[in-house]
Amino acid sequence: MRITGDLSKCIGAGQCVMMAPELFTQDEDTGLVVVLVEEPSENQREAAWAAQMACPTRAVAVTETSTTDAAGS
Ligand code: SF4
Repeated sequence: MRITGDLSKCIGAGQCVMMAPELFTQDEDTGLVVVLVEEPSENQREAAWAAQMACPTRAVAVTETSTTDAAGS
């Protein structure tokens, strides 16, 4: 899983930071998103998806980078 923040779309709404403060912060000067953790751990997945859903401009992109995840049943 990989998180990216598109600064050309970000409007500094801060929803991503509210949903996942461990993964995102905002630039002190511009207010735009700063991705703190580009490759979140397994237990950060839900927060990452929640942040993507919460972003009003779809600036947050979460992509699965299927590694060796054994999905189980
Ligand atoms: S929620 Fe979206 S628009 Fe708001 S700060 Fe985060 S990335 Fe930027």
